[in-house]
Amino acid sequence: MQTVLGEINTILFDKDGTLLDFHATWDHVLGAALREATGGDGQQLAGAANAVGFDLATGTILANAPFVAESNHKLGKRLRPFVDLDGFNQAMRHFAKETAVPMLGMTGLLQQLSAAAIRLAVVTNDSEAQARRQLHQLGWVDYFDVVVGYDSGYGAKPDAGPVLGALALLGSDPVTSLMVGDTMHDLRSGLGAGVLTAYIGEEPELASLADVAGPSIVTLFESILALG
Ligand SMILES: [Mg+2]
Repeated sequence: MQTVLGEINTILFDKDGTLLDFHATWDHVLGAALREATGGDGQQLAGAANAVGFDLATGTILANAPFVAESNHKLGKRLRPFVDLDGFNQAMRHFAKETAVPMLGMTGLLQQLSAAAIRLAVVTNDSEAQARRQLHQLGWVDYFDVVVGYDSGYGAKPDAGPVLGALALLGSDPVTSLMVGDTMHDLRSGLGAGVLTAYIGEEPELASLADVAGPSIVTLFESILALG
């Protein structure tokens, strides 16, 4: 597909905040899991919430919270002093069962890219199994050729490993591939792997690192495909 960035035949998507509406999907799930895993102990709850960047007063995940970008492995290390990790992970899986909320316009965009024979992958710092469950919930399984999580054997973002791993599985060249994400971790991982990068968000510092940027997935892809 000819785009403003040149020929692109492969697009790698971050999951949370990129494919999925981050707050609609995770605010309630994380709050409920933190409460469940700390069993009514206010001090443990406050410590755990602080460790991952959850605002107990508003019930929302803070901007730049560790939960936004870090791998589950790193988040586990932060939480270990405050919760039983197995219990927490079990509660997360339980509350996340039915809650994947797509970004506005995402399903239509995936249909369009898939129809144009673009190879698509998910590259997430969440677990591969959780990503697959959410794709299944949304009816998106057939759109994605590859799903790489922090536990798929390629390391975690911001290292280049997961992007390179997805490219290897797809048989794609970095030069004709685009990594799309909403955090510095996504951009660093893409830049390290030598792919083109697209940033969804409104932070100028991150926008300046990416080849293309936009405030939402719809506006971002309008500008990528505009002159294609
Ligand atoms: Mg993200």
